[in-house]
Amino acid sequence: MPRIQVLPPETARLIAAGEVIDRPASLLRELLDNAIDAGASDIQVEIQGGGSTSVLVIDDGMGMDADDLALSILPHATSKIRGTDDLLTARSLGFRGEALASIAAAARLEITSRSAETPEARRLVSRPGSAPTMEATHGRQGTRVLVEGLFDNFPARRQFQKRAQTEASLCRQVFADKALAHPAVSLRFTSEGRTLDRLPACESLRERVLAFHDDPGEALVHEPRFTGQGFEGRAVLASPAFYRADRRFMQVFVNRRRIQDYSLVSGLDQAFEGLLPGGAHPFAFLFIEMDPSLADFNIHPAKREVRFRDPGALRHAVTAGLSSFLRGLVRARPERVEAGEEIGDSHPAFDFGRHSGGSWYAPLPGSSEGPPGQGWDSLLRERPFSPQVPPRGTDTLGTEPGLADRLCYLGTTMELFLIVESGDSLYLIDQHAAHERLLFDELSSGKPAIQELLVPILHEAESDEEDARIAAMAEVIAGAGFGLERTGEGSWALVSLPALLAADPMGALRELLDCPEADPRKAALATTACRAAVKDGDRLEPAAALELARRALALPEPRCPHGRPVWIRLTRADLFRAVRRIV
Ligand code: ADP
Ligand code: MG
Repeated sequence: MPRIQVLPPETARLIAAGEVIDRPASLLRELLDNAIDAGASDIQVEIQGGGSTSVLVIDDGMGMDADDLALSILPHATSKIRGTDDLLTARSLGFRGEALASIAAAARLEITSRSAETPEARRLVSRPGSAPTMEATHGRQGTRVLVEGLFDNFPARRQFQKRAQTEASLCRQVFADKALAHPAVSLRFTSEGRTLDRLPACESLRERVLAFHDDPGEALVHEPRFTGQGFEGRAVLASPAFYRADRRFMQVFVNRRRIQDYSLVSGLDQAFEGLLPGGAHPFAFLFIEMDPSLADFNIHPAKREVRFRDPGALRHAVTAGLSSFLRGLVRARPERVEAGEEIGDSHPAFDFGRHSGGSWYAPLPGSSEGPPGQGWDSLLRERPFSPQVPPRGTDTLGTEPGLADRLCYLGTTMELFLIVESGDSLYLIDQHAAHERLLFDELSSGKPAIQELLVPILHEAESDEEDARIAAMAEVIAGAGFGLERTGEGSWALVSLPALLAADPMGALRELLDCPEADPRKAALATTACRAAVKDGDRLEPAAALELARRALALPEPRCPHGRPVWIRLTRADLFRAVRRIV
């Protein structure tokens, strides 16, 4: 018997299905695409058990007659294209004819549909591995699709599903992506019997974006348009007075699909360059409608990526168009972009990290140099006075009203210490320790943002002992973002990471495994904070430095997670005593 065998059709189907449908959220995405392609003006979604138990989508679109309904679940059956040429012109969200067939291979599927031309509805019921059945039934025009027990027949895949709550939030994210791009459709999202989103049809993208994200406040949000060769674009932007540490409010849609495209996202950042403090990101949603022949969506099973015919021209048009719009805005209302105006408690994650320079703030004279190192160095080494170290656990400055307003940033010295003056005191702030503490507090106070890995990183435990250690801490550190799932004896897959962790995830994991701490969650958060914080030698923009100082001085416990002080204070009296002006 030859070693190689052609797989039975059912197995082959299940494998292919896994490429299109890998979790409840991708199933929901396909069903929403179908409802939108059917011209629905109203779509209702209900999920149970994070979508693994059931997903129900009801639309009022064009529906299907009996013949089409029977064909709809066959592989490569589509009404949206007829041949390869149409791939270049298809404006529909679907075109591969794979979704319903994949769903039918991996779950119980029930479709009830009625088209405008037919007097009665039909119901199709399909179970993996058996022939579908059809019957006449009552129903209005449109389609109702119910999917139950996803991957019940595919335990290997099921194992990769997350907790129902996580899957539900991924479903809701998919729902939001579709809803944002289709403001004219009214939509509802219900999970476990609770309606979480109810969105009436609306006129503009701006209105729809604000229905989900009203953080910047309606008054500040604009909707500029721009055009280029073969495409037109619209953006929903907040003025530069609003910004964030992460890119959560930066999203790109092309032909009404949300895509992950680094070049366009960084083009948005570039449009705001000089208007935001270093390391900050804008509120910017980009919607591009483009001639389908200039964009190929057929490169990613989930159509999350797109290949543009001329990516450079597109990015340039976005950046140039938005940049000139923004500059007009700032000229018209300069008071909107005061330094640090919007950095308050609502932006606790503000990242003071490495910026690309080119700020609109005028640099403070001498701010990048600081006082000559030597004098300070020797002064500190001789210790003619004792600089005050903040006492543990006391609110040294947070209670002093107005302190933050009176701070003046003088510069940075020894590539590490921010020098800040306030009234009679001079503060030296360890920029790394301060940033680390702030990030640590922020991570500890809420649920840290987590990035799911598209391709899990595999880790083999080096010993049984290490395997047991991972098993013991996996659940606890998952809450800090390090999602580890057992894939076999001694084998683990790292499926998610703390969003703040930019590089070397395995190094961070090693650190956690090699130095077991009594509290692994705290250790995981501390490792993340330490790795995400600015380092010694990183140069900060004056505005970022000032903001970091302001927050460091307001810390209730100004020690880094390892217990070292974050800042020291020298008073006028200390200095005068040092040079013997007073005794
Ligand atoms: P595709 O969307 O790529 O064509 P699908 O497998 O998702 O492939 O759907 C197959 C066909 O079933 C579609 O082309 C469409 O004709 C029909 N169909 C699916 N869902 C709906 C719906 N909600 N309303 C009307 N027709 C639908
Ligand atoms: Mg489809």
